[in-house]
Amino acid sequence: MCFKPDFKKLGFKRKSISRTRKGFDRKGNTLLTYLVLRFHKTPPLLPWLFPNVWWKRPVADKTIFLTFDDGPIPVVTPFVLEQLAAYQAKATFFCVGENLERYPGIARQVLNQGHLLANHTHQHVKAWNLSPAAYRSQIHQCQMALEKVGGTTNQRKLFRPPHGQLTWQHLRMLEPEYQIVMWSTLTYDFDATLSPEKCLAKAISVTGPGSVVVFHDSLKAERNLRYVLPRLLRHFSELGYSFKTL
Ligand SMILES: [Zn+2]
Repeated sequence: MCFKPDFKKLGFKRKSISRTRKGFDRKGNTLLTYLVLRFHKTPPLLPWLFPNVWWKRPVADKTIFLTFDDGPIPVVTPFVLEQLAAYQAKATFFCVGENLERYPGIARQVLNQGHLLANHTHQHVKAWNLSPAAYRSQIHQCQMALEKVGGTTNQRKLFRPPHGQLTWQHLRMLEPEYQIVMWSTLTYDFDATLSPEKCLAKAISVTGPGSVVVFHDSLKAERNLRYVLPRLLRHFSELGYSFKTL
């Protein structure tokens, strides 16, 4: 596949990225989000640039790591739990703190079924809109909401930035305390212009041992999720895969 990003359309000239450090910080971050969100499969450049971030996990067997972002919410999260239970699959839920406060019962249900809850900020905020201190406060609030529902463990705290947005500055600030988790497969379940059939076919084609797969337990993703999740679980179970928490 030929990758030619339209730099003009993205609002910057290619030269400006390499010429100035300042330019890279601002515009390079735009490029990074473009790279993160443009592809079903994460381009190898990103793990190379950010080796401490989890993109894919090293595994010796056929293990896949399913993740669900933006919940917990009624109807959609319980649907996910039912599907996972049918395949004895475990998964990691990157929760929005406000949703944990609204629906603590659903969060506990997630935990009771052996899944892992993790941090996705308190109000699903974008890193570029906030100073590192304000962003940290959002993460801290979500962490407190996680603690309240009993969702914290002795494990290293896992954090996934909403929209995959981070700056170098935010990253440096968070890394000592949190394990940043991105993904290797983005299903685009949230994309209403993508048919459920295509969503499934794409997700299957780029997933394999150690893949970290992103779904969303959100209303926006519900249509594709309802079609894709049970079929993806069946497909990989029949191939001998198992699904574990991060
Ligand atoms: Zn999100």
